[in-house]
Amino acid sequence: MKEGVRQFGVPWLSPTSAARLLTCPASVVGLMTGAPPRSPAPSTRTSAGVLAHAALQRWVMADDWRYGDRDGVLIDHFHAVAKDRKVAVAAVMDGRVTEARLEQRASSLGELMRQAGADATAKAEVTLHDNERRLWGTLDLLVTSERGVWLIDLKSGMDAAQSLLPAVIRSQLMIYSHLVTAVHGRAPTWMGVFSLRQGAKQMPVSQSDDSMLLGLLDESRSAWMANDRPALPSPEACRHCTRRPGCDPHWIALRAWEDADGLEGQLLRAQTAENGRTALLVQNGTGSAWVSNMRGEGLQELVGHRVRVMRIRRRKATGQSSDPPQWQATDSSAIASVGD
Ligand code: SF4
Repeated sequence: MKEGVRQFGVPWLSPTSAARLLTCPASVVGLMTGAPPRSPAPSTRTSAGVLAHAALQRWVMADDWRYGDRDGVLIDHFHAVAKDRKVAVAAVMDGRVTEARLEQRASSLGELMRQAGADATAKAEVTLHDNERRLWGTLDLLVTSERGVWLIDLKSGMDAAQSLLPAVIRSQLMIYSHLVTAVHGRAPTWMGVFSLRQGAKQMPVSQSDDSMLLGLLDESRSAWMANDRPALPSPEACRHCTRRPGCDPHWIALRAWEDADGLEGQLLRAQTAENGRTALLVQNGTGSAWVSNMRGEGLQELVGHRVRVMRIRRRKATGQSSDPPQWQATDSSAIASVGD
C-alpha cells in the first residue's frame, strides 16, 4: 500500500485529543481521518472564557498590543464582544471577575508580547498542521520576529492557576511547540500559558521531551487504532469526560477517591424550590445523601431511576454524624439516568 494512502487512515491528533489519548485511551472519540482538519469556526458562545478569547483576538488584530498605552483597550474589546453577542457582562457567569482580571493583566500580557521586539507580528487563533505526524492544533497567540517565536496559550480556568502546570496542559504545550517547530523551522523562544488569574507561566522548551512525547503518541495512537483502548480513571481525566455517565471503570474507581465529585444510586426524591433549583435524595449501598441546588428541568421524572450525578462538591458535615451526607451542585453539575 502506498504510504500516502496508509497515512490517510491515520487519525489526526490535536493537543486536546493527544492529551486524552495519553491519560485515558478509552476517552478518545470522534478523531478525524483523511485530509488535514480545517481551522475551527470561531466560537459564538457567551461564556466568560470565550468572550475573553474573542476580545484578545480583536485586540491583536487591531494591533493594540504594540503600544503600552493601549493595553487597557483589551477591556473595551471585551465589552464590545459582549455587546455584539447581546449579553450583559454582569449576567455571564464569572463575567465581572473575568472583566476585572483582563483589566489587571492586560499590561503584563502586552509586555510579554512586546519582548519579541519592534519588528514582531502577532496572530491569534493560528491553526498549524504537521502532515507527516498527523498532528494539528489552533494556538491562541503566536508572536514572531527576528528574535524568535513566542507561543502563548491563554487560560481563564483554575487548572492553569496551580503553582505547577498540570500534566495535561504541559503535554498540550509540547504539541503546540512541536507544531511551531515543524511549520516555522525553529523552536519557540518562549512558550507557556498566560493565566488570567496568575499571569504568565513559562514552560521550558526541551528537544528530548519533544521526541519522547512524539514516540509515545505514535505508540498510543497505533494501539488505539488496534482497538486497544483501556479506561484509566483519574479525577482530572474523568471530570469533564463525555463518556463519564456510562463509564463503569470510572464509577468503580471513584469510590476510593478522597475528593470524589460524583455520586451514584437510586433517586428517591426530587424537591424543586421556588428558585427552580432541585434537591435530590440519592440512596446507594452506603446509605442516602442529599444533593442540593441542582439545575435542570424534569428531574422529578427520574425518581425511581438509578442515577449518576457528576461534578458536585461534598459539603462539610455540620449536624449529627447520623445525618445523611450533603452535596452541593455547581453550574457545571450534570445528572444521567442509567436505568430504573
Ligand atoms: S470517564 Fe474516565 S475512565 Fe472513563 S473514559 Fe472517561 S476519562 Fe476514561
